[in-house]
Amino acid sequence: MGKVTGFMEYERIEEGYKPVPERLKNYKEFVIGLDDTQAKTQAARCMDCGTPFCNNGCPVNNIIPDFNDLVYQADWQTAIDVLHSTNNFPEFTGRICPAPCEAACVLNVNDDAVGIKSIEHAIIDRAWAEGWVKPQPAKHKTGKKIAVVGSGPAGMAAAQQLARVGHDVTLFEKNDRVGGLLRYGIPDFKMEKSHIDRRVEQLKAEGVTIRTGVLVGALPKGSKVTNWAKETVSSAQLQAEFDAVLLSGGSEQSRDLPVPGRDLDGVHFAMEFLPQQNKVNAGDKLKNQLRADGKHVIVIGGGDTGSDCVGTSNRHGAASVTQFEVMPQPPAQENRPMTWPYWPMKLRTSSSHDEGCTREFAISTKEFIGEKGKLTGLKTVHIELKDGKMVEIPGTEKTYQADLVLLAMGFVNPVATVLDAFGIEKDARGNAKASTDFVGGYATNVPKVFAAGDVRRGQSLVVWAIREGRQAARAIDEFLMGFSDLPR
Ligand SMILES: Cc1cc2nc3c(=O)[nH]c(=O)nc-3n(C[C@H](O)[C@H](O)[C@H](O)COP(=O)(O)OP(=O)(O)OC[C@H]3O[C@@H](n4cnc5c(N)ncnc54)[C@H](O)[C@@H]3O)c2cc1C
Ligand code: SF4
Repeated sequence: MGKVTGFMEYERIEEGYKPVPERLKNYKEFVIGLDDTQAKTQAARCMDCGTPFCNNGCPVNNIIPDFNDLVYQADWQTAIDVLHSTNNFPEFTGRICPAPCEAACVLNVNDDAVGIKSIEHAIIDRAWAEGWVKPQPAKHKTGKKIAVVGSGPAGMAAAQQLARVGHDVTLFEKNDRVGGLLRYGIPDFKMEKSHIDRRVEQLKAEGVTIRTGVLVGALPKGSKVTNWAKETVSSAQLQAEFDAVLLSGGSEQSRDLPVPGRDLDGVHFAMEFLPQQNKVNAGDKLKNQLRADGKHVIVIGGGDTGSDCVGTSNRHGAASVTQFEVMPQPPAQENRPMTWPYWPMKLRTSSSHDEGCTREFAISTKEFIGEKGKLTGLKTVHIELKDGKMVEIPGTEKTYQADLVLLAMGFVNPVATVLDAFGIEKDARGNAKASTDFVGGYATNVPKVFAAGDVRRGQSLVVWAIREGRQAARAIDEFLMGFSDLPR
């Protein structure tokens, strides 16, 4: 434990943000990480609990009290080794994880939680700056060939783990760049893509073969899922050529809102809008980029994706941005004795909301309206929960002006045709069916085909995808070799 009385002496330190007018001018990250002294003070607040709930609250089970202590002792190099022992990509989670570990922190019972995420961010940024993050190629090759389909955080983590124990891994990705939703979804202002590029170089140096622009199986006709594939590989080909296949293609089917007027020009999925801006930021030239300049934008969906649409619309120079959430407004503060150590329901205001956004809660969209095929607005009604059902509140009907509506209501499931191409059995929600059992986990009903990440668990978080990628890698290694030294 760093400083025995640290938690009584020091306040929590939040990472800084660049001012709103400055950050709205570009798509760069604007979070100002802790400096070494701040990180040390922050780490000193950790109580090194006998039962560290933070460790259990973290999906990758980061060994948080240990790296807190190491930062306090200024042993940054051992701190990154501890962090990397459970998390392949702390620079991703240190930037965009909602940090369930902090909700679970024992200090959070009656004080402010330890700033675990900001410490993680400081450790990994320091490690990259010092040149401590190096490829770890395997000393011996096994001769086993593994195909990983989908290069999001689940696929990247699995590919890295499998390559490090000597397997020949090929990572297939239908889009033109590696990274999944980290690359094409999450805006650059939340996470710049150079962080993914560095890891791609590391993966290559560790022997992973990367094949971008290759679609495995097929997408349904007219699918709006991002796809820049120039080549197709059949499921049968993969099954014939590889000793094991991991499906990590995410949960890409956006939830639609099939109300009258849905086909008007101006109503789009968030995932048509966000990836285009990612591409432009990467230097690609797009014809007819879907933009929000001067438009009245309404984002339907109150989660992360919706918030990212708000931030991107404001950077485009939208005339107004309004976000709808169907659920009632949650309380500003959770009832901690009731919720700790679990993830609490409370009002969350993101940095994008702070940049300018009107938020409406308990609102339902009944119809999109337009002229000559073009969207001009939408009709709404407020709703409330009565006898376990959401019902309309009479007299609350309203018409909003809108030139652009972005549907950000989550994802229903993976694209079925890809799973069907392999003959994968699905669960009740349409995800690839596979357990997370210690023995036989991540295996689907199809021999030697495994599934991990959002494709298996449904729409989730980057940190869960990394966990599943790591655990699936161990399951595959065990399947191929009869044992595995990889951690679970
Ligand atoms: C806009 C947005 C913002 C988000 N913000 C956050 C956040 O702030 N924090 C957080 O923790 N999580 C966030 N998430 C969720 C997070 O991004 C996902 O949970 C995570 O990326 C899932 O990882 P994955 O590897 O399972 O799949 P994905 O990241 O979805 O990657 C799957 C990849 O597989 C490829 N693929 C699919 N099918 C095929 C095929 N047949 N052939 C070849 N390639 C294929 C896809 O093109 C894709 O690149 C956000 C999601 C979105 C959409
Ligand atoms: S729960 Fe909080 S105080 Fe306790 S060990 Fe974890 S980070 Fe430190």
